[in-house]
Amino acid sequence: MNIILLGPPGAGKGTQARHLVETRGMVQLSTGDMLREAKDSGTEMGNLVAGVMARGELVTDEIVIGLIKEKLQGDNGGGFIFDGFPRTLEQADALAKLMASEGKTLDRVIEMRVDDAALVERITARSTCSGCGEVYNDKTKPIPADGKCTNCGKENLFTRRADDNEESLKTRLMAYYKQTSPLIGYYYAKDMLGVVNGLGTINAVQSEIAGALK
Ligand code: AMP
Repeated sequence: MNIILLGPPGAGKGTQARHLVETRGMVQLSTGDMLREAKDSGTEMGNLVAGVMARGELVTDEIVIGLIKEKLQGDNGGGFIFDGFPRTLEQADALAKLMASEGKTLDRVIEMRVDDAALVERITARSTCSGCGEVYNDKTKPIPADGKCTNCGKENLFTRRADDNEESLKTRLMAYYKQTSPLIGYYYAKDMLGVVNGLGTINAVQSEIAGALK
């Protein structure tokens, strides 16, 4: 089963994708992670997108479609999870064509619905273990006092994303509402959309997603 996790920044797409990877052997394709990797390793494309990402704007369709195209040719284990892609109607059309040309199908789109106030709180308090991707929150799930990740046990690998600040978040939310939210109607019309409440506990969201994937 190949699925899209659709939702604004901070909705919990990455957290839920990691769970699906662990429990169902699915393969997570996060264009945000791919772009951050390119930026951190200083490739030409990485340098090109660094400023755009820091401001919270979208990088060009051409770049992200190119990144996804490369990955689609690989093994998809228990299915692909598209996380943070597509973010525009052009990307959605491109994905449909690429999947068809690989003989694959897109089976379900899960919209994770969360209100804006919760997003600001989540994002400005968020840090991530770069060893395993476990997400922490200053208020609800603080970094352990001994500095060891509760998931992978590695020490002091906690990082904050450069774009997890209020200013960039405003731009990222605006980009979501203007450019990405039309995809909700697009997939609803194709009868592929399932909606979950992204405000619940991690476990509650996991079971809602499991229900939506049946
Ligand atoms: P994310 O980790 O999904 O929040 O993405 C971080 C940033 O990477 C976004 O704010 C955009 O600048 C860029 N980005 C990630 N995925 C896409 C995409 N599908 N289309 C355009 N820009 C993207």
